[in-house]
Amino acid sequence: MMQITEKDLLEKLKINFGYDSFRLEQKSIIENILAKKDTLVIMPTGGGKSICFQLPSLFFERITLVISPLIALMKDQVDSLKANGIPSTYYNSSQSSEEQQQVFDAIANKSIKLLYVAPESLPLLQNVLNQNYISCVAIDEAHCISSWGHDFRPSYKQLAFLKKTLPETPIVALTATADKATQEDILEQLAIPNTTRFVSSFNRENIALEVRPANDRVKQIIKFINERSDDSGIIYCLSRKATEQLASKLKQNGIDAKAYHAGLNFDERAKTQEDFIKDDTQIICATIAFGMGIDKSNVRWVIHYNMPKNIEGYYQEIGRAGRDGLPSKALLFHSYADVIQLRQFIANTGNREVQEAKLDRMKQFSEATVCRRKILLSYFGELIEENCGNCDVCKNPPKFFDGTVIAQKALSAIYRLQQKEAMGTVIDVIRGAKNAAVYDKNYQTLKTYGVGSDTSWQHWQHYIIQLINQGYCQVAFHLNNVLQLTEFSKKVLFEGEKVQLTTPIEVKKEIKTILKEKKSKKLTSDTLFERLRKLRYRIAQEEDIAAYLVFSDATLKELENERPQTDNEFLAISGVGQRKLEVYGGEFMEEIKTFINEKKRGRKDTTLETLQLYKEGFTIDEIADKRNLKAQTIFLHLSKLYLEGKDVSLDEFIEVDTLKLITNAKKVLKNETTLKPYFEFLGEKVPYEQIRIGLTILQKKR
Ligand code: ADP
Ligand code: ZN
Repeated sequence: MMQITEKDLLEKLKINFGYDSFRLEQKSIIENILAKKDTLVIMPTGGGKSICFQLPSLFFERITLVISPLIALMKDQVDSLKANGIPSTYYNSSQSSEEQQQVFDAIANKSIKLLYVAPESLPLLQNVLNQNYISCVAIDEAHCISSWGHDFRPSYKQLAFLKKTLPETPIVALTATADKATQEDILEQLAIPNTTRFVSSFNRENIALEVRPANDRVKQIIKFINERSDDSGIIYCLSRKATEQLASKLKQNGIDAKAYHAGLNFDERAKTQEDFIKDDTQIICATIAFGMGIDKSNVRWVIHYNMPKNIEGYYQEIGRAGRDGLPSKALLFHSYADVIQLRQFIANTGNREVQEAKLDRMKQFSEATVCRRKILLSYFGELIEENCGNCDVCKNPPKFFDGTVIAQKALSAIYRLQQKEAMGTVIDVIRGAKNAAVYDKNYQTLKTYGVGSDTSWQHWQHYIIQLINQGYCQVAFHLNNVLQLTEFSKKVLFEGEKVQLTTPIEVKKEIKTILKEKKSKKLTSDTLFERLRKLRYRIAQEEDIAAYLVFSDATLKELENERPQTDNEFLAISGVGQRKLEVYGGEFMEEIKTFINEKKRGRKDTTLETLQLYKEGFTIDEIADKRNLKAQTIFLHLSKLYLEGKDVSLDEFIEVDTLKLITNAKKVLKNETTLKPYFEFLGEKVPYEQIRIGLTILQKKR
C-alpha cells in the first residue's frame, strides 16, 4: 500500500464523512489499523467508534468485514454509509437467496467496502472468509464475547477462529465497556494477545447530569418534557409494567410516547424502534432491553425513572443522549424504594457480592455531594482535576448545616423502636403519624413520637439517607430492611458528636399547575432550524432512512447559523461530505434562500395583506381592526400600494377642495417633501394624514 499521509486521512474524513477533524484517539487508531495491527478500541457510547474502522476500509483493497450483534444496527449503519457514498451492505439469514447471491457478487467483484454480518451467519460465508477477499475484520460491541460483561452472547464465542483463518488480517475489537477484566477476556477469546489498546476518555462533556428525589416523578417528567417539546428522549424504567403505565400517562397528557420491553412481540418492538429512529415517535419508555444498537444521534435526553443497578449500565444508557455532541440531559430519579428492590433482585443472583458492591457505588453516585462527573469518571479509572461545571452538584452546590439535633431525634427513634422498623415507620413515628402502622404497635406512647412533626416526610427521608451514608445508622437488608444503629450512633447520642447534613433540594411547586394547562397544541416556532428539520424529515421519509442520517442536529444548527448559499459554503459545514452536498445540498440551500427572502419581504407582505382586505371591500378602520394595526399604518400601506401602481384609489379618502389646497401649498413650498411645513402653511387645519394622501396623489400624477 502507498504511504498514507495525514492529509489523505483528513481528506477522506471530510469527503466521506463530512468532518474536519478527528475526535479523541480516532487518528491514532486509524493509523494503527492501516499498519495492519490488531487493535482494541475502548471508547464511550457516542464517542465515534464507527469511523475508526469505516475510514480505513476506504484505503484497503478488499472488504472490511464488520461483525455486529444486531440486525437493526446493521441496517442503520449501512444506510448511514450509503448516505455518505460509501458502498456497503449486510448479510443475514432473513435475506432471500437472491439477495444473498448479490452480496457474494459484490464481494467477488470488490464493489463494496464494508460487509456487516451477525456472528450467527458467519459459517454461511465460509467461501469468502479468506485473505483474497478480506482486508480487515472489525468486531463491534466486542464485550459480547465475554461472560464477564453484561451482554454476553454465546454466538460471539466462536470468533476465535477468525485469527486462525485470517492470520495476516488485522482484527479490530471495539466496545464501550471499560473494565479491565472484560478487556483481558476479549483479547484472550479473540486470540489476539498482543494487541495495541486505545482507551479513550469516558468524559461526555455535553451531557448535563442531574439527580432528583423521586417524589412526584410523573409530574416532574411531564414538566421536563413540556419544557423541550420537540426533543427526542428515552425514559428507562425497571419493569415492563412501569414502561407501559408511564407511556400511557404521558399519552393522557398529550405527549407522544410509546413503551418498549422484551415482553412485546418482535414486530411490535421493531416498529417502535423504527418509529423512534425515524422521528415518528418522540419518546420511548423502555426497560434496558432498549438501546443497544440505537445509533440515533439526536436523542436529546435520557431519564432514569428508576435507579439502574450499576454505573456501567447507567453510563451506557445516558450515553445514548447527545451523540451529535450538542448539549443534552441525563436525569436520574433517586428513590430508596428502588435501592431496596434492586437489593432483592440481586439477592437471588449468582455473584451477589460483586453486584451489591456495584449497587453501592451507584447509590453513592446518586447521593453525592461532590461533582458527579468526577465520581463517574473515577469509576472508570479516570481522574479529572476540575469540577465539571455541568452537573447539578456543580451548578447548585449543597448547603451544609449543623444537623446534630435532627440526627439525635432520628437515632433515638430507631433506638426506641428497638431497631425493628424500616425507614417508613421510623419517619411516621418521628412525625407523629396517626396510622395503623403506628397504633397497632402502640408507638404513639413512645418518647420520640412526634418530635419531628415540624419537618416534612420527604425531608426526613433526605436526612436519614444521609445518616446512613455517613454510617450513623444502617439498613439491615437481610431483616426486611429495618434501620439499625451502628458504633457511630453512640457518639451522636451520648458523646456530643456534631453531624453535618445538607439541606434538601426543593422540588418546584409549579409542577401542580402544569397538569391543568396540558394538551395546548404545541406551537412550533417558524425558525430556520424548524424548516430545515421538516425538510430533513421529508427527505428521510422519501428515502426510508432515519432522519438523523440525512443530517445530524448539529449539522442543522450549523446550517441555520451559517446559512450557506453556494456549494463551497455548504461543503464547509461540519457533517457535509461530497455525496451529501451533491444529493441534499440543492434542496437545503433552496430552503435557506426561501427563508432569507421571506424574512426580507416581511414588510412587503404586510402591505399585500392590507391590499387583500382592501379589495374585499373593508374600510380603513375595519382593516386596522382586523390586522391589529393603527389606521395610520393602513394608510401608509395604501399609499405605498398606490405609488406602486396597485389597484388602489386614494381619491375616495380626500375631498377635492383639500387636494386643491395641498396642490397650491406644494407650489409655494417648492415641492417640499416633509409634512410639517404643509401643516403649518395650511393653518394647522388639515390633518397630517390628509396631507400625506394628497402628496401621494400628486406624486403619482407627475
Ligand atoms: P459509537 O459507535 O462510539 O457509539 P458513533 O460511531 O456512532 O459512536 O459516533 C457518534 C456520532 O459522532 C456519530 O453521529 C458520528 O457521525 C459522530 N462523529 C464521529 N466522529 C466524528 C468526528 N471526528 N467529528 C464529528 N463528529 C464525529
Ligand atoms: Zn460536576
